[in-house]
Amino acid sequence: MAVQAQATEHINAYTIALQQYDRAVAYLDLPAGIKNFLRYPKRELTVNFPVRMDNGDINIFTGYRVHHNTVLGPSKGGIRYAPQVDLDEVRALAMWMTWKCALVNLPYGGAKGGVIVNPLEMSQSELERLTRRYATEISLFISPHGDIPAPDMGTNSQTMAWIMDTYSMTVGYSVPAIVTGKPLNVGGSQGRTEATGRGVVICMDESLRRSGRNRPEEIRVAIQGFGNVGMYAAKHAHDLGYQVIAVSDVTGGYYNPDGLDVDDLMAYTATSRFHQLAGYEHAEHISNMELLALDCDVLMPCAMENQITLENAADVKAFLIVEGANGPTTPEADDILAAKGVEVIPDILANAGGVTVSYFEWVQGLQSFFWDVEEVNRQLRRVLIRAYDDVVRTRDRFDVDLRTAAQITAIKRVGDATFTRGIYP
Ligand code: NAD
Repeated sequence: MAVQAQATEHINAYTIALQQYDRAVAYLDLPAGIKNFLRYPKRELTVNFPVRMDNGDINIFTGYRVHHNTVLGPSKGGIRYAPQVDLDEVRALAMWMTWKCALVNLPYGGAKGGVIVNPLEMSQSELERLTRRYATEISLFISPHGDIPAPDMGTNSQTMAWIMDTYSMTVGYSVPAIVTGKPLNVGGSQGRTEATGRGVVICMDESLRRSGRNRPEEIRVAIQGFGNVGMYAAKHAHDLGYQVIAVSDVTGGYYNPDGLDVDDLMAYTATSRFHQLAGYEHAEHISNMELLALDCDVLMPCAMENQITLENAADVKAFLIVEGANGPTTPEADDILAAKGVEVIPDILANAGGVTVSYFEWVQGLQSFFWDVEEVNRQLRRVLIRAYDDVVRTRDRFDVDLRTAAQITAIKRVGDATFTRGIYP
């Protein structure tokens, strides 16, 4: 199952985000100036800051916060802790957030943040000090009505609790609406932790239903990434009766052609080192590249960008790809997949469940009125299916793939709103 390298492809997330934008915006009749405006991030902040390590050393870290667009409302977007974070990656992720929020009709613009750090190499107390200092450094940019962060790769609800506490200490009162993805006991929402993975599965289910495939037990799903998104996508798919035959994380892939016991995998990672899959024995060990080329029906890349590329797209055997991660498929790979007849449910639709329930959390926090999990999940489904319908209508109208259709739908909303608001002054 070796995946052969055929050619090298320039892989820069921001270049890719712009290529996708150019592809979609060409279908829209917007003033050239507005088309050009939407290509640019509105504002960018780079911060270099010191953190005292447990051994007494003082290390310097670099972080970013980028607001891509705020035409539809305050900007919204996660914070990522990862060694490969750079400004272009954050710009791309902020731009995708603008389209994602517009696509699911949330009153938000797009933002993203990140710190260049490997969180697995930090103790909890170092992570807390890093988070509190980064939150203070970007406090120029964040506020409950201006820019609201959330978790992303390498961050979680505890990170959000520290940011909320730091911000609240500065202003002198508790401000739950400064972040979403918080723990329940400090104003989090029911259903937020699982929301992105749940949304991925709602989209898969909808696509399969529309193509007449109504028997989940006959559908074999392979999932790259077993973090927040991948794990809950696996759990929800498993609970609905789908066969999850492979999962993976940074330590590699774990495969069982007869189906994995996802509850057992979750129980294993709950206590394993770094919550990783390494050492899990009830599956065959494969590589992440082998997982992407596995004989399966649905492939869910739920780890990171640039996983399905010019080099391996031809090896994909799934007929449906549901993008839990942001930017996992490059434009060249999109073309190869389209030629093979593989349907790709794009990131800005497939993983929009997270920001949708983040929006519910923000609304609940502002109103101090909290919903039960049934209400959250019902509203989540309603929002995603409506967006799915909009994307399919746009696809049929312009005869394009689902990614381009999703971007056309979203860019049109932001472009029209920009036109209606007018150019200040
Ligand atoms: P996470 O940190 O919880 O999990 C990431 C997972 O990917 C881990 O299992 C990790 O081991 C694995 N991984 C890392 N590098 C890998 C590699 N090279 N090969 C294979 N696996 C690798 O992160 P997450 O929150 O689950 O986010 C995953 C993706 O989903 C990111 O692209 C993120 O932007 C996107 N996303 C997250 C949310 C959210 O609510 N958390 C919402 C929308 C989109």
